[in-house]
Amino acid sequence: MKTVYGPVPSWRFGRSLGIDPVCRLKEKVCSYDCIYCQLGKTRHKIIRRRKFIDASKVEKDLKQALKNAKADIITISGSSEPTLASNLGEIIKRIRKASDLPVAILTNASLFHIKEVRKELSGLDIVAAKLDAPDAELFRKINYPHKSITFRRLFNGIMKFRKEYKGKLALQMMFTKHNAGHAKQMAEIARKIKPDEIQLNTPLRPSPVKPLSRPEMEKIKKEFRGLNVVSVYDARKVEVLVLDLHETEARRPEK
Ligand code: SF4
Repeated sequence: MKTVYGPVPSWRFGRSLGIDPVCRLKEKVCSYDCIYCQLGKTRHKIIRRRKFIDASKVEKDLKQALKNAKADIITISGSSEPTLASNLGEIIKRIRKASDLPVAILTNASLFHIKEVRKELSGLDIVAAKLDAPDAELFRKINYPHKSITFRRLFNGIMKFRKEYKGKLALQMMFTKHNAGHAKQMAEIARKIKPDEIQLNTPLRPSPVKPLSRPEMEKIKKEFRGLNVVSVYDARKVEVLVLDLHETEARRPEK
């Protein structure tokens, strides 16, 4: 299995070459089991970090992919929560060694309370941290987190990271019928965190949960007035030439 996939057309980042530091396609591991996850149910809900793949393999696969790929950015994401990889710091170093492209990560932020994780992410250009709920109850109903992750711990972790991190911090918020009525509270919490950008999303790609309509998302967007917001419905379409369809569809299933 390759550790690099895509490039994929990312509505937030353009042509994005993906890195998967976990590579568990058949038995998804994650610290969450989000109701809308496009990768299916979490088979193993874990919180303890461990090494899944060698960092040297990422460097080798990336060098190979960059011979042919046309990409604007490298995004660490893939088949699970990437911060669960205990060698993420080493993987980031290897990515930097192999390429001058900007590097981003899509993370659920569940491990931001760990100093080492925050330190590892500090070297990235963009960190997009997931936050789908404004309180503990909705957090449990939407993200089904590992029992040791409380909403308070998650929020405090993101706040700590905000204070330390010098790059671009984006908050990725997935809206469905479950939290659509809580947009005002979501905007309030975003104002406390002060991210550089807020990415308003709804599951337009295959998902067990239906997406909200454009007018519903427009209504939500209004609650974020005065903040720097991008919405999935407003995003420009990006053309990409995928290198390996099988490796890519395993992480980004299309309809
Ligand atoms: S955090 Fe991401 S990979 Fe994990 S269950 Fe949620 S959407 Fe899926």
